[in-house]
Parts: sequence; C-alpha cells; structure tokens
Amino acid sequence: STLQETTERAGSNRDLGLIDRKSMIHPFTPLRTFSDGETGGPVVVDRGSGAWIETADGRRLLDGFAGLYCVNIGYGRPEMAEAIAAQAGKLAYYHAYAGHTSEPAALLAERILEMAPANMRRVFFGLSGSDANDTQVKLVWFYNNILGRPTKKKIIARERGYHGATVMASSLTGMRFYHEGFDAPSGPVLHTTVPHHYWGAEPGMDEAGFVAKCVADLEALIAREGADTIAAFIGEPVLGTGGLIPPPAGYWPAIQAVLRRHDILLIADEVVCGFGRVGHNFGCDAYGIEPDLITVAKGLTSAYLPLSAAIVGERVWSVLEQSSDARGPFAHGYTYSAHPTCAAAGLANLDVIARENLIERVAEFAPQFQAAFQDAFAGHPHVGEVRGTGMLAAIEFVADRDSKRRFDLSEKIGARLSAAALEGGLITRSMPHGDILGFAPPLVIDTNDLDFMIEKTKSAIASVFPGV
Ligand code: PMP
Repeated sequence: STLQETTERAGSNRDLGLIDRKSMIHPFTPLRTFSDGETGGPVVVDRGSGAWIETADGRRLLDGFAGLYCVNIGYGRPEMAEAIAAQAGKLAYYHAYAGHTSEPAALLAERILEMAPANMRRVFFGLSGSDANDTQVKLVWFYNNILGRPTKKKIIARERGYHGATVMASSLTGMRFYHEGFDAPSGPVLHTTVPHHYWGAEPGMDEAGFVAKCVADLEALIAREGADTIAAFIGEPVLGTGGLIPPPAGYWPAIQAVLRRHDILLIADEVVCGFGRVGHNFGCDAYGIEPDLITVAKGLTSAYLPLSAAIVGERVWSVLEQSSDARGPFAHGYTYSAHPTCAAAGLANLDVIARENLIERVAEFAPQFQAAFQDAFAGHPHVGEVRGTGMLAAIEFVADRDSKRRFDLSEKIGARLSAAALEGGLITRSMPHGDILGFAPPLVIDTNDLDFMIEKTKSAIASVFPGV
C-alpha cells in the first residue's frame, strides 16, 4: 500500500480519545477526572456545515452556540477555505513591527474602521479577545502617562462581566470562579453593579428605578476611589458569559453621562456583540453607546482563524499620536499582530456578511427568534426569566418563581439541561453563573433550525423536570 494509506490506517486504528486525554490540558474542563476518563469524552468534533457539526462517531448536532458564539457565518464555507489557502500560499506570515504590513492586514483595518462608529481612528490587531482587552488596558495607562496623570489608572468593570482569561483580562472578569485559585490581581480593577433587573432590582423597582440605582452605585464607587484614580470603564453592550443579559432601557446613556463627567474612558467589549450578533454592526449601535475604545474578536473572522482588534477612537488616538514618539516606538505588540492569513480570513468573513446581508437578516429574524423562546418557555414553573436580543437568548431556571429561590448548586440543573439537550442533538451552553441555558447559534440558522432548537430544549426541560 502507499505511504498515505498506511498513515491513514495507523491514524484510524489509534484511540484518539485516549491520545487526547493523555496529552492535552483542556480549557474549562476538570483536570484529573477528564484525564482519567471518568467524566467521559473527549467529544471529537470532525466537521461542520452551516449551523451543524458532526462528531467523529457520526452524530449530527445543531450548534446552538456557534462554537463559543463565534462561528457567525456558519461552518464549512468554501470561500473561507479558499481565501485562507490563497493567502497562505502567497505570504502566510510577515510581522507588522517597525512599519511592515501586508495587503490583507491594511485592507482589514480600513474595513473595520468603515464599519465602526464614526469617531474610531486606528486598529491594533491581536489574536484573542483576552489579549485585545489587555491591549486596551495598556493603551489607557499609556494615554494617562502621556497626559501626566500617573495616578489615573484603575479600571472599573462589572460584576458578571466577562473579558477573558489572560492575567489582566481575568482580573477584569467579574466572576469569582475565574479568579479563585489563580491569584488574579485585583489591585487596579474595581467591579460595579451588573445591570440585571431580574436579580438586582429591589422589590417594586421598575427599570428606570433600577438604572438609577446602577448609576448611583457607580457614582458612589467613583466618589469612594476618587475620579483622579480611575482611567476607564469596560463593559459588554450585552453581558455575555455572565448570563446573556441585555441592558435595561436607558442604562448606557446614563452610565456614559457619569463617565464623561468624571473624565473616565469607555471601553466597549464587543467580542460577542460585534459583527452582527445583535442585529447591528456593533452592540454600541444598538444602545447609543459612544465608546472611546472597542474590543472585537470572534465574529471578526467567524473563528475560521484567530484574530482580534483593539479599535482606538479619536480621544485616545489624538493623544497617542501627538506624544508617543518622543518615548521611542510604541513598545507593545505580538509576533502575530496583523497576521496576514488571519487578516485574509477576516476580509473574506466580512465579505460573506456583506454579500448575504447577514446583519440585516439578524435584525429581521430576531423578533421571531425571541418570540419563539418567550412563547415556549416563559410560562414554565421553573423558569424565572427568558431574555435576549438579536440572536442571543437565555433561559434562567429557579427552584421557585415567586420567591426567586435558586436551585442548590449541587443539583447542577444548568449542566443537566444542556446534557439532556445534547442527547437530543442540540448544543446549548450552560452558562457559568446560575442555572442559565444560553443560545447563540450561527447567524445563518433558518426557521427549521429554530423549531429544532425549541423542540429539543422542551424535551430537555421535560426530562430534567419530569411531571412539571
Ligand atoms: N470578551 C468577551 C465579551 C468575551 O465573550 C470573550 C470570550 N468569550 C473574551 C473577551 C475573551 O476572548 P478570548 O476567549 O478570545 O480570549
């Protein structure tokens, strides 16, 4: 037999699961029990097409979470593979240090600025949402150093905000789970109230009252710390990993007014919302947010290759531009900043989004998508809240609706629900904070896919709460 056949046979005879368990550390996976095979898995994912993936043992699954809400244009796009192959064949890599560039990197930066709010001026490329948020913090510190404000350095994030897993980004993340055990430094980071009316409002408090409370909490934090010590506020337009929480009406304009009054920069973490997820180019466009800096990743390439960007607005750029050269070159960057092949994937992805009007499609489909979840689940005795916007939806489960009593953590309701949905062929995500089932499918799903999601979720709920 040929060498290729021999190699293929050798590959297929080996137990990939065993190889994986004995070789790899997985993110967000138990260490010992996974490695020993006690928890089962790994799930070997083999291929994908549209909103569906297929495992190596032949199961077809509807990916109701688009990977990690990143495969926005869906799997298996030949035009993506072609664009990536063409760039890799021509020039897979060159760096962007000391003024080098490549055609796809320059064109993608221009394209991002065309899609971004009008005050955005420059793009700095990274590889992940986490490193882009690290870049934002460094830019904000650099900015205040140039302005001669060495004490204006703290960053306000929000409880339940998610900003990544590098040292700085995990500090920004407002969930204890991501800090415990890692000594994530809390020094320069403060956390303020999460704008979640369901849990945060006092009895009888309407949305406007709750927004006023969020604003008062922020004001009190700034007063306590001193505005001259606070550089920036970072927030996701719609909270993602913390539970898919759209902001209450009027939240962002009110928060923004406080930040302006205290000369605090606003960083919009658009890693989830950017490029169509909520039916606009950016979440900022949906909520009247006028950020100074924007973080994007995920939907920028639909995850065909890793790529992120810190987008820098006029207020920060005008300072960096005026003053940085006296210190020597801008001393920040990564080997893979502005990676040409990743940038080619970004351009091809934005081409697909434009050609297929995917952002407009989300805006049109969202009412039906949201109504389907409301109609199917809002009345269930163990559902506390059904919420969402665009093509993000969440169902939050509670033991008792009236008292909002939570299930005991040991019952693992969220994890059991997503496991039951998986049995039925649907991938959902049990969000890490509470018993929340999250949905964020590829933006290309159709009505049949939506029906499938609703039906399989209903069956999962019925199996976890039999007789209810
Ligand atoms: N910010 C937000 C809002 C995110 O949702 C994520 C990832 N889920 C990140 C940052 C971090 O991105 P990455 O995992 O690519 O580092």
